[in-house]
Amino acid sequence: MLDHNEIGNMEIRILAGESLGVRGLATVVSLKNRKILIDPGIALGWMRHGFLPHPFQVAVGFEIRKRLVRELAEATDVVFSHFDGDHCPLAAPNPYQLGIRETLDGLKRCRIWAKGESRSSFTRQGRRNALAAALGRDLPEVEESVDGPLAFSSDVPHGVPRNGSNTVMMTRIQEEGVVFVHASDIQLLDEPAIEKILEWKPDILLVSGPPLYHLDSPVSKALRRLARANAVRLAENVAILVIDHHLLRSTEGISWLEDVRQATGRRVECAASFMQRQALFLEAWREELYRWMPVEDDWHECYAAGVEGFEKYRIEGWRMLIEQGRIQPCAWYPVCPIKGFTDDSRLERFWVENYCLVGNRRCRRLQMEARGEFHPDEMLPDGSIRPELTQTGGNDD
Ligand code: SF4
Repeated sequence: MLDHNEIGNMEIRILAGESLGVRGLATVVSLKNRKILIDPGIALGWMRHGFLPHPFQVAVGFEIRKRLVRELAEATDVVFSHFDGDHCPLAAPNPYQLGIRETLDGLKRCRIWAKGESRSSFTRQGRRNALAAALGRDLPEVEESVDGPLAFSSDVPHGVPRNGSNTVMMTRIQEEGVVFVHASDIQLLDEPAIEKILEWKPDILLVSGPPLYHLDSPVSKALRRLARANAVRLAENVAILVIDHHLLRSTEGISWLEDVRQATGRRVECAASFMQRQALFLEAWREELYRWMPVEDDWHECYAAGVEGFEKYRIEGWRMLIEQGRIQPCAWYPVCPIKGFTDDSRLERFWVENYCLVGNRRCRRLQMEARGEFHPDEMLPDGSIRPELTQTGGNDD
């Protein structure tokens, strides 16, 4: 039976998605001998409900960008499904996106698998060319190719099919009989793309859902029906269906996902629940974030100029999400040494923000506690040991 995120030798970790606080679908797939990073990029949604990204959202995005760079340092392969700013590093990123400069060292070492230029806007072609120029090599066009565990689709529509419209490329990864498919930005709106996914027979499928916040005109009703029918069909044919991205930018999308889960009785997840942690629908909650934590008028300008940071919003944001009942920390949090080390500034906040505060059930400390197994204070939630956390200073006598 398929369970958790590690199946045989395949481990799937979704790093970015709207349920994880940012736009994107960056995913790491670790195989026995390869580590494949798909779509290393994020964005925050420049303007929603009349607001720029809240500084708390900026703080969460900053940590995910750092993580993408760390993951790239260990990746063997990088896949670009297309060249939107939330799926690839950019030559001229806005203050909330990932830049080519930060990723160049990692990218230079990796095999790259990229969608070609066909049926892409000039902007996307320009981004692709900028990346190739920075790397000093051409990027391959890999649609419809197969290489060992990797297979790529032909170009399929980015959302609603239109003549000459923008397109994306889907990726299939297989190892030891387990199949994972990454179907970025198809939005469940194109029948041939759905047929291709089913033909690939995925055990686990990660797919972008429909952007309901854009589908509010009377003519959109048919698109809504189509997306829902496709979601149900996929749910009934894959063991684990993960729907995230465009769908989860609105509270309506969050309810839509829950409705599909209940209607099918199947394992239908968002990226956060697949990663066994609570969701941070920060774009859908943006208006509320501004209400709970008002922001100075010139904050974004000052942040872009590098004269203002997000630290006070970061601390306050987590406190506010708990107070508002949007997240519930791990039951051990008040007494866990990991909290103490973080409060003493001996440990980076990454650990509490990605495990303790979001009730991450993948925490090794939590799992060992449940089994009654000894685990030292200096053991981090991923099971690694940091001896210096419990070492005291030398004796001066
Ligand atoms: S480190 Fe693990 S056990 Fe401790 S509070 Fe965080 S999630 Fe819970």
